[in-house]
Amino acid sequence: MNDFDLVVIGAGIVGVSSALWAQERGLKTLLCDPNLPGSGASYGNACTLAIYACLPVNSPSVITGLPYLMASKDSPLSINYWHALTHPRWMLSFLNNCRASKVEHIAASLAGLLSHADAGINPLIASAGAEDLVVANDMISIWTTQKGWEGSKEGTEMRRRLGVDFTELSSDEVLDLEPAIRLRPYRGLRFTGARHLRDPQAFVTRLYQRFLDLGGTWRQNAVDQTEPRKDGVMVHLGRETVSASRVVVTAGAHSKTVKGSGAERLPLETERGYHLVYKNHGAKISRPVGWNEGGFYTTPTDGGLRLAGTVEINRIGAPMNRRRLAYIARRGAELWGPLDGPVEEWMGFRPTFPDSLPVIGPSPASDRIILAYGHQHLGLTLGGITGRIVTDLAEGRSPNLPIGAFSPARF
Ligand SMILES: Cc1cc2nc3c(=O)[nH]c(=O)nc-3n(C[C@H](O)[C@H](O)[C@H](O)COP(=O)(O)OP(=O)(O)OC[C@H]3O[C@@H](n4cnc5c(N)ncnc54)[C@H](O)[C@@H]3O)c2cc1C
Repeated sequence: MNDFDLVVIGAGIVGVSSALWAQERGLKTLLCDPNLPGSGASYGNACTLAIYACLPVNSPSVITGLPYLMASKDSPLSINYWHALTHPRWMLSFLNNCRASKVEHIAASLAGLLSHADAGINPLIASAGAEDLVVANDMISIWTTQKGWEGSKEGTEMRRRLGVDFTELSSDEVLDLEPAIRLRPYRGLRFTGARHLRDPQAFVTRLYQRFLDLGGTWRQNAVDQTEPRKDGVMVHLGRETVSASRVVVTAGAHSKTVKGSGAERLPLETERGYHLVYKNHGAKISRPVGWNEGGFYTTPTDGGLRLAGTVEINRIGAPMNRRRLAYIARRGAELWGPLDGPVEEWMGFRPTFPDSLPVIGPSPASDRIILAYGHQHLGLTLGGITGRIVTDLAEGRSPNLPIGAFSPARF
């Protein structure tokens, strides 16, 4: 007899959603994290439940535009060359996944999972009484140059083919929706049905609180090691060891640190992202605005106007890159006009595989260990559905959607 039916390692949106789904279904569940729930990448994101966002960062234009993207100071992408040279496997595989045929497969796989995202998160919102933290007011994505808009057409067509719900907006229509924009938009897309969170950490905390109310167990401790056995898994957290029928690794960008889990063998890297919060400007807009040329979102949150995004390829332990923050501040002022000093500066770690798909499935180390991480730009959106799939797998059931594309065995 094991101590727990399920041990969940990592309490970001993916882990807390998994723990709540499992506890709701009656599995005796332990959730552990050295930090407070929702304080990793799930804290600082752009707050969007982005059910439309099936296009990966991988794209043929990354290959053609790479020299410009890497040389320009105005680029939303930054690469640390030393890190790139010392991690050739991930870099080459990422570039390989920028070929058109691969992108089509990635987008279709993400669109399939995203089409179930609401069904994964809505029951958790209802269970935790978190409706007040969710705003249903669509999202708009804007282009401020003709070149940018023309360059996005193939992606827009792919979205259409994959059934994403959106309408095209003229420049005036964008400004009718969000009159505070100061840089004249060229065109936009309005994604109907998209929602956003007023405060992602408060949201994760609400789900976590519900998990505890249902009798879930919490340990504020890191898991150092997992040891699969025939009838379960031994889990070492600091000085304590517990046994579980199954374990799920949901430690986001840190998942490789869980020894013995099989996660150490998979090619996970991080795309570092940044945010700035401007307290007095929260009422400027009524929905998230994604600026394509800028590479960041602007979202109205309880804490103020949050400008979040950009991609920096560098190691987790490298210091915060202040040039990235300066970039967002400067381009934010271009888009919105002058903004007062930010009240918050943040850097966080998106967990990303070279094919921009998460792993959700049994580990190569043992089928008693489930791996569920690598949600790159979409973890907030996909946490709920991932939690439901994890719980199905932990119960030995087949999920009611295809998950083959997310198998860890693809590596
Ligand atoms: C700037 C930015 C903007 C974004 N915008 C959006 C958006 O609008 N919409 C969207 O859907 N997604 C967005 N994302 C992506 C999203 O935030 C992530 O995909 C998501 O938060 C990942 O969740 P997670 O639970 O896997 O990881 P995390 O939230 O990072 O949680 C992992 C947890 O594991 C814990 N941990 C680490 N090691 C151990 C261990 N050994 N034992 C136990 N616990 C451990 C950590 O302490 C952490 O709490 C954005 C990301 C960034 C950076």
